[in-house]
Amino acid sequence: MISSDVLLKIIVGPVSGHISGFVSIWLFTFIFYGVFTYVREVVCTVICPYGRLQGVLLDNQSLVVAYDFARGEPRGHLQKNADELTAGDCIDCGLCVQVCPTGIDIREGTQLECVKCTACIDSCKEVKIKINRPKNLIGFFNQDFINERKPYKIGLKSYGYAAVLFVVMMVFSSLIYKREDIQTTVLRASGTLYQSRGADKTSNLYNAELINKTNKAVKFTFRSKEKGDKISFIQKADLLPKEGSVHLTFFLIRKNNAIKKYKTDAVFEIIANGKVLSTATTSFFAQPEGIEIENE
Ligand code: SF4
Ligand code: SF4
Repeated sequence: MISSDVLLKIIVGPVSGHISGFVSIWLFTFIFYGVFTYVREVVCTVICPYGRLQGVLLDNQSLVVAYDFARGEPRGHLQKNADELTAGDCIDCGLCVQVCPTGIDIREGTQLECVKCTACIDSCKEVKIKINRPKNLIGFFNQDFINERKPYKIGLKSYGYAAVLFVVMMVFSSLIYKREDIQTTVLRASGTLYQSRGADKTSNLYNAELINKTNKAVKFTFRSKEKGDKISFIQKADLLPKEGSVHLTFFLIRKNNAIKKYKTDAVFEIIANGKVLSTATTSFFAQPEGIEIENE
């Protein structure tokens, strides 16, 4: 993800500096061109999962775009003489079918191809106004209303969906609230286990990546949470550019008398302005004093 000012820089900068972005934009342009020119409603009916889910989500109380067949049928063309109007309100003008982006006839019932764009509602309403008949032959109705003229009432399913939506929104909000400004990943260097440092210390080698998710550069200190630990950097940085990342490579050196197990936690902290902005936990391997473990 990139911010708007970075996007602007990419747009006005030379193409040679943003080859991958340039190729991606062309690729997506062609994909969307293909979608709008050749694929079109197939996206709604085949690719989008929403239509497929309708069957399980809906019941007789669900509000959907529907044709009020109890009022509309039997359909028939409008006659010049008002007395010869057919019994139903649908004059079979076909406008609702013509305007439908997925090409369905809503008068045949709820169909998975319907994307609820409401274009048929609007076009039918205009027809009704022109012929001076009651509006809303197509509208948001539930099946019980059309069949039995029962008023809409919120059912158990609706409460269930509302509860699920509430839970999802709470989870989403808490994720946003708990989002760290700095994301830290620390991994042990591949192909290494531990190194003895003289008689009383052991070290492990690590690689770390720090990502700044804010639009301000951050001056930071990288340290181990364990007071007696020392860090010896091979690749060091102390400034995290805005919306950027840095890589660190370092040895974590721990005193042998502090090592009680073969595998212990190593917790790292990113400090800026005296505050811990981020932490990362990984493993530290060493041979504890007095316990013989074969070095793998
Ligand atoms: S637009 Fe209305 S009146 Fe015309 S065919 Fe459709 S439902 Fe019938
Ligand atoms: S709501 Fe849109 S997609 Fe659904 S039947 Fe009416 S025009 Fe077609």
